[in-house]
Amino acid sequence: MATILDGKAHADRMLESVRLGVEDRRARGLRAPGLAVVLVGDDPASQVYVRNKSAACAKVGITSIEHRLAAETPQAELDALIDQLNADPDVDGILVQLPLPKGLDSKEALHRISPAKDVDGFHPMNQGLLLEGLPGLRPCTPTACMSLLAHHGVNLKGLRAVVLGRSEIVGKPMALMLLEQHATVTIAHSRTKDLPAVCREADLLVAAVGRPGLVEGSWIKPGAVVVDVGINRIEDPALGERLFAAEPKKLETLKTKGAVLCGDVRFGEAMQVASAVTPVPGGVGPLTIAGLLTNALMAANNHGA
Ligand code: NDP
Repeated sequence: MATILDGKAHADRMLESVRLGVEDRRARGLRAPGLAVVLVGDDPASQVYVRNKSAACAKVGITSIEHRLAAETPQAELDALIDQLNADPDVDGILVQLPLPKGLDSKEALHRISPAKDVDGFHPMNQGLLLEGLPGLRPCTPTACMSLLAHHGVNLKGLRAVVLGRSEIVGKPMALMLLEQHATVTIAHSRTKDLPAVCREADLLVAAVGRPGLVEGSWIKPGAVVVDVGINRIEDPALGERLFAAEPKKLETLKTKGAVLCGDVRFGEAMQVASAVTPVPGGVGPLTIAGLLTNALMAANNHGA
């Protein structure tokens, strides 16, 4: 039976370290880091994420300032708000919650954020620094996954790592960070031939695809470490029966609550084959916010204000 890599516990450790960093700033007479969160429209999932981010900020002493704009806000107005936040000396980090409503260009918005305040690490300048292996603000989810792996003593040197997914947010930066730590990295995606065989080569398998239960137990090399980034909401009972044959608890939650969250990996099956697995929920999800607040503290310290 595999070990469960507890993301919640590690997120708490990361948040405690941010809290101490904020306290240290205060002791040096500096103000608390300021994080501006821009939420456009009323997407329910985004509202929950923003609420969770604000609550986490409050816990560690980071000042979070929410800016809510209507779904029909024109691009020029969003751009003007970003310019204003870029110029505000009390704002150390800016986060534009994605996805943006139709009609708004998320790349334009993200590229407009000052690289020094880009706490999501999505600006091409920060992505470029990562590519060169230089310090900068790095994407939160892969950074936090690396921190989890380091905490659990996973030695990446020479390891065969397979990253499923090639998004700018997770897959590509994750692959670069693994490469930086001397893993031998394969990036797989929707056009990859014989995905199960590629996955079976992995000593470390990172799934960031957004396809519930795509990775079956038979795709996993015995003893591999599995990091499941995917977050998928299942409501269909027939799909649940198929995906959760090895997870009676999940099936029960689906039956009683009408919906359940799961990852890209069939957790119950992975537990039988792998040496360590992150669960969903309670794995990578909580780590992402901890990574964001770590970046907010770093941005504030870099500003020296
Ligand atoms: P994207 O949709 O941007 O990228 C998905 C990637 O998966 C693409 O590269 C795509 O390939 C690949 N893909 C899709 N279908 C398949 C398939 N059948 N076989 C192989 N590869 C496939 O997603 P994100 O990277 O933004 O997110 C991925 C998942 O991670 C989502 O479930 C998201 O909710 C979750 N997530 C979780 C976070 C957390 O905090 N835990 C944070 C961020 C994301 P191609 O490029 O060829 O289209």
